This record gives sequence, structure tokens and C-alpha cells, in this order.
Amino acid sequence: FVRIEVITKRFGATVAVNRIDLDIQRSELFCLLGGSGSGKSTLLRMLAGFEQPSEGRILIDGQDMTGVPAYERPVNMMFQSYALFPHMSVSDNVAYGLRRGGVARAEIRKRVADMLDIVKMGDYAQRKPHQLSGGQRQRVALARALVKQPKLLLLDEPLGALDKKLREETQFELMKIQSQLGTTFIVVTHDQDEAMTLASRMGVMQDGRLVQVGGPRDLYEFPVNRFVARFIGAVN
Ligand code: ATP
Ligand code: MG
Repeated sequence: FVRIEVITKRFGATVAVNRIDLDIQRSELFCLLGGSGSGKSTLLRMLAGFEQPSEGRILIDGQDMTGVPAYERPVNMMFQSYALFPHMSVSDNVAYGLRRGGVARAEIRKRVADMLDIVKMGDYAQRKPHQLSGGQRQRVALARALVKQPKLLLLDEPLGALDKKLREETQFELMKIQSQLGTTFIVVTHDQDEAMTLASRMGVMQDGRLVQVGGPRDLYEFPVNRFVARFIGAVN
């Protein structure tokens, strides 16, 4: 479904992403792990179309994305700072992306209501963001990212701002929503436990390279090197 074909990204002398070759299956929840500066965000930004690869190409559904601008890709990205518009209600925040897309008003209302139900925020539609908890805001941001029905959703540390308990609850919600909608998710996280819980498969990055890809158990039981072992928590 998503084909990442030997892509490299250089910023001057820095090689942020180094010859990554990876296929993502449809409806998969793929977790991307790795230390700070290993190239995770850069890889997502290239998928979303905010950066162009220096070498290689990305195909989605067989279509070459080279030169396709971000807004024309079947992709949406949710950033770590999921800034909602403070002056807009929950439902207006979610509707925002659709209004710009030229969707009819009645259709917008229906899609927004459906999506708020899915993230269990239907009762909060008229509230403003400052009247919500962190986890509730996070769910609104997720609804906003999903309402355009992207085929691929990229989440860069989506749960980073939440405390442990809320994180666990939201992880569970995220998995439910993902399987309900069948959207393909690529989730960047610093938290290996989170990846072990969420992922159908995961990839570990080190200095711009993808050092291992596999199911959570494979990586735990058969890490290719000490770095992966340590990262996954198999060795201390
Ligand atoms: P973190 O976990 O800290 O978010 P990351 O894995 O997301 O890290 P990236 O943001 O992809 O890492 O950065 C990878 C490397 O590329 C880093 O060395 C970073 O300094 C560099 N880099 C990223 N974006 C740019 C840019 N626009 N210009 C120059 N260098 C950049
Ligand atoms: Mg990052």
C-alpha cells in the first residue's frame, strides 16, 4: 500500500534519513521507534509531502508521490503539538479541514458528528478547547485528522503530552478507532511499551537508518543488535 523506495534525505552534511526501504500494509498500525535525532520526523514529513527526498521515491497505492503537494496526498499528519484553535468550538475545530475542502454543509455536519461519536466526544461538541482535559483535546485533534478520511494517518508522538494513565486509556482508544476505520497508521513514539502495545509491526531507527523491522515479539526476542535490544527493553 505504501512503498518507501530507498529514500535518503540530506540537510547539508547531515544525513537525516539514510536509504530507508520499507513497505507498509493497508490497515496496519506501524510504530516507528528510535532515539532523538534518528530521523523519524523527517521520514514522516516526506510521507506527508512537507519535505522532498534527496534520493528515492514514495508510492501510495502504486502512485508515485514525487512532486505531489501535501494537500493532494491521501495522507494526514497529526503533530505532537496538536494545537486546536482556541476560539473555535470542538465541532468547528473538527470541521475546519473539511470546510477548506469544498464539502457541502450538511455533509460536513454529519461527518463531524459521526467522527466525534467515534472518539467519544459527541457530548462536548460545543465546548471550547480550554474547557477540555488533555486527553479530550487529544481525541478532538485525532477526530480533526481523521475526518478527511485519509488513507494514511501519520502521528508524531501523539500521546507525548499525556500522563501515564491517560496515555494507556488513549492508546486503547487509538487501537479501537484504527481497527474500526481501517485507516493505516504510522505512529512515532519514544516509548517502547507504547509501541509493544499498539503496533502490528514496528521499525527501529538509528542515525537515519532503519535497523530492524518486525512484529513486537520478533524485535523483543530476536533483536539484530544491542541497540535494538536495549531500545526494546530486552536488555538493560
Ligand atoms: P526526535 O525524537 O528528537 O523528534 P527525530 O528522530 O524526529 O528526533 P528528526 O527531526 O527527523 O529526528 O531529525 C533527524 C536529523 O535531521 C537531526 O540531526 C536533525 O537535526 C536534522 N534535521 C531535521 N530537520 C532539519 C532541517 N530542516 N534542517 C536541517 N537539519 C534538520
Ligand atoms: Mg521528531
